[in-house]
Amino acid sequence: RAKERGRNDFSFYDAEINLEVQRRVQLDARLRVAIEQNTLEVHYQPILDLARSRIIGAEALVRWTDPLLGPVSPAEFIPLAERNGLIHRLAEQVLSTACAQASRWQAIAPVTVAVNVSSAQFHHCEPLQHSIESALARTGLAPQRLVVEVTESLLLGNHKDLHSTLQGLVDMGIGLAIDDFGTGYSALSYLQQFPFSELKIDRSFLKKLDSDSSDRSLLEAILAMAKALSLNVVAEGIESAEQARFLREHGCQCGQGFLYSPAVPAAEFERLLRADMAGLSGWAHGAETPA
Ligand code: C2E
Ligand code: MG
Ligand code: MG
Ligand code: MG
Repeated sequence: RAKERGRNDFSFYDAEINLEVQRRVQLDARLRVAIEQNTLEVHYQPILDLARSRIIGAEALVRWTDPLLGPVSPAEFIPLAERNGLIHRLAEQVLSTACAQASRWQAIAPVTVAVNVSSAQFHHCEPLQHSIESALARTGLAPQRLVVEVTESLLLGNHKDLHSTLQGLVDMGIGLAIDDFGTGYSALSYLQQFPFSELKIDRSFLKKLDSDSSDRSLLEAILAMAKALSLNVVAEGIESAEQARFLREHGCQCGQGFLYSPAVPAAEFERLLRADMAGLSGWAHGAETPA
């Protein structure tokens, strides 16, 4: 009987693997088409100055809705694109689109745009610095308005000339952020070793903020450390007014999250930005009610 169950489990497992492989093959093929036809979209999540509840920038986040498969999460297709090499063309499209948008938005307000850069992009024959330089030149966006987000895993990898590549970006005037801070294996010395200007606190630190006091201490420690190293801090995943208040009270300057807005299409971001500049933004609920 056990034997039989074992065999059934095995074939069930087999079928599951099969489905996964099928999905991957399908995604691979469809993603190639989306990139060739340039149908990936870029959405923008507002980043706010928490004290004033005003938009200071946006994070560019790629969005893909396949006509057959429906919407696919970047958490699923970015790792795939890193494995099959499509990441390079994908990144090129996102960077171009984001810089062009941000360049247009400068007429409304001096907002920054943050672009996620995958570790795989540091392995490419086309040096990252060149593709960024050419995107800035093409779109007229000032380097001071661009932030490049990298994750801790990049710092662990064995990337040739990593330090000089990052320093090269900083020398151009581009901001350099460490994304998802605290989720990877992060030696704190990395923060000093590499020329970061910004630290993005992963949303997992905010999740249990209301219930767990050890999480609170951890968050306070990260904020104190960022301050000591003169790093600008952006909190990710702010979902409640309590979280926003805690962050403000502990000196966290900036944040993003569903409390304010999810990532939205460019036209919608522009509408939010205009309303914000006119003092008509809808985030009063995110701010403290004046006493
Ligand atoms: P990330 O860079 O850490 O981006 C933040 C993610 O948190 C986004 O997920 C965003 O939609 C989500 N988020 C923002 N606020 C909240 C909140 O209040 N609550 C919750 N639950 N989530 C929130 P998204 O867009 O699904 O992207 C997932 C990851 O995929 C990104 O994490 C990034 O690592 C990667 N990614 C997205 N776009 C790109 C891209 O253009 N290039 C590369 N290389 N990676 C990208
Ligand atoms: Mg990011
Ligand atoms: Mg992040
Ligand atoms: Mg993340």
